[in-house]
Amino acid sequence: EDNRDIDDKTEVERYFNGEEGFGRWNKIYSESDDVNGVQQEIRDGHAQTIDKVLSWAEADGRTVCDLGCGVGSLAIPLAQKGATVSASDISNAMATEASKRAAAAGITTATFETSDMENVNGEYDTVSCIDVMIHYPTDKMVGLVDKLCALSKDKIYVSFAPKTPQLAVLKKVGSLFPGPSKATRAYLHKEEDVVAALAKNGFKVDRSHLTSQNFYFSLLLEATATATQAFARR
Ligand code: SAM
Repeated sequence: EDNRDIDDKTEVERYFNGEEGFGRWNKIYSESDDVNGVQQEIRDGHAQTIDKVLSWAEADGRTVCDLGCGVGSLAIPLAQKGATVSASDISNAMATEASKRAAAAGITTATFETSDMENVNGEYDTVSCIDVMIHYPTDKMVGLVDKLCALSKDKIYVSFAPKTPQLAVLKKVGSLFPGPSKATRAYLHKEEDVVAALAKNGFKVDRSHLTSQNFYFSLLLEATATATQAFARR
């Protein structure tokens, strides 16, 4: 079967439910020592992104919606810091693993569901979507940012692989996403495209952080609803 014949979402859902994708990422997003050098770099880079969100985001007493939660790398510490977290992932394997990890950590203030982020509803103080946009082309990314904005009353944390000239070259020669991670397509996005998609919905970027190391590149944006946006919701 040619992967190019199925759409990105179907491919991503299959990949993160299967042993190849789930197994690989569950290992990277853990502390196990059976990772190779590339996987260790990705683990360290990802930890930097998560730590940055945790240092920026207010948690105590806030409602948080974490979309594409993976194994709960962000949702779990946010709940530990006092947030009430609604986490979800399109992959049932991922959502189930996150739920197990949260239970093992004694967390009772986070829920984990299997859901395509496009089907998530409600209103939350904070919406996070970390390292998910890499799976979707820019036109799709814009629709997903609309969704983040519709769900958020105040803050958004979104990260993506930035489309810079350097990264575009690395991607082309195949050294950006080496080995098994090539199993899914990877899309880079221009920072200005993401900023514009947020702005269109009344969200203004007030902080950004680039984590850039071998095999892991992620630009994190913190956006806040403007007064007009907050008013429009009443
Ligand atoms: N956000 C997590 C983190 O930073 O640890 C996981 C990042 S992982 C690279 C990407 C995740 O996005 C996978 O768990 C995948 O199943 C999920 N995902 C991809 N498309 C999605 C969609 N449309 N709705 C919900 N989750 C999605």
